[in-house]
Amino acid sequence: MRFAMPMRQSQLFTKVSRELPKDETSLNAQILIRAGFIDKLAAGIYTYLPLGLRVLNKISNIIREEMEAIGGVELLMPGLTPKDVWETTGRWATFDALFRLQSADEREYALGATHEEVVTPLAKKHTFSYKELPFAVYQIQTKFRNELRAKAGLIRGREFLMKDLYSFHADEDDLNRYYKIAQKAYFRVFERVGLLDRTYLTFASGGAFSKYSHEFQTVTEAGEDLIYICDDCQLAINSEIIADQPSCPSCEKTELRQAKAVEVGNIFKLRSRFSDAFDFRYADEQGEKKIVEMGCYGMGPSRIMGTAVEVHHDERGIVWPASIAPFRVHLLALAQKENDKAVLAANQLYVELVNAGIETLYDDRLETRAGEKFAEADLIGCPIRLVVSDKTLKEKSVEMKKRGEAAAELVRMDKIIGTLKSLNQ
Ligand code: ATP
Ligand code: MG
Repeated sequence: MRFAMPMRQSQLFTKVSRELPKDETSLNAQILIRAGFIDKLAAGIYTYLPLGLRVLNKISNIIREEMEAIGGVELLMPGLTPKDVWETTGRWATFDALFRLQSADEREYALGATHEEVVTPLAKKHTFSYKELPFAVYQIQTKFRNELRAKAGLIRGREFLMKDLYSFHADEDDLNRYYKIAQKAYFRVFERVGLLDRTYLTFASGGAFSKYSHEFQTVTEAGEDLIYICDDCQLAINSEIIADQPSCPSCEKTELRQAKAVEVGNIFKLRSRFSDAFDFRYADEQGEKKIVEMGCYGMGPSRIMGTAVEVHHDERGIVWPASIAPFRVHLLALAQKENDKAVLAANQLYVELVNAGIETLYDDRLETRAGEKFAEADLIGCPIRLVVSDKTLKEKSVEMKKRGEAAAELVRMDKIIGTLKSLNQ
């Protein structure tokens, strides 16, 4: 049975707010702050409150499962990194977004913005022969980047969560093989978090070591990137790399649809860019020393959270996909006093829901008016709302309504657990 962490709103220290947060222009952050998912400390820096952390963890766990499924092994690298590893690759001077700082003994450090500089020497310590290749490691970790503009809420943080996976191969063919596998795993993640229908594999500049890298771009007006989509091939090309007329990278068609999009993931054939810098070699079958080929695969759980809100909301609030909703059910007791029948019935239903493994947020507050509870439930956006009131109890029932639909229905109290279990939502 799944562990269903219960939560009573009377015990939740955060409050829903009616007011739009000041100095916050991005829609995802405005809604998430009002609904009590996140708190803004400074531009691009947010606290994940209890509701928000649940969403972030759900997204991370989906990513984790898909990375494990393609052989990724989880580790956790430090967020504080010494200058010398960045000098080895030449990026101390060229990585504009690095937060650089000094320790008490005046050594220089950078806050981790990406981890090739850590993972490459780490993998080198443990890899000697072709027999140990290929392998892949990943982490889900806080990254720091000195972003010039941090105005897109969770889509562009100065501190944000990233999943970064790194793969190590004996030759380019094996890197190409794994790269395709990783690409598929990325689409499985976007399917599971509810973004697949508007997420495109997008060709982007590959830098010096390969012609293209691939981005996964989710179409939304909140996007900071401009892409050209080929609807025949379901592919796109990032406008950043195009010097002249854009054409489909597959069918070469030039009538493409232009759209704003968010880069929710990015995969890259590093080839020997970093293994050369750290002289990371292995012995092949003949004992000859060969350079290791590398790939890196990034994805932003916090950016996905912000993007999901941009894509899945209406005028009343968030409409979470069930897979990443903070709770599946939002149970509302409409009553004023502790001994009201509706409160007692809702208390009992709450216990039954939790025991049945159904994740439930319980609005058990007595002093809050019904209209306010409904408005807050819509803002928070759990997939299913259950209401217990004197009116529903007259029918020995509970009112059930899906967040994305207008119609509510009465379900008999003794049938509600079974009904919820049979819904695939
Ligand atoms: P962008 O082009 O948007 O600045 P990037 O190409 O620098 O991002 P990567 O270095 O490839 O991004 O990072 C991997 C993933 O981490 C991105 O695909 C994105 O999902 C996430 N990410 C990157 N920067 C941020 C940020 N500032 N805030 C939130 N998520 C981010
Ligand atoms: Mg990018």
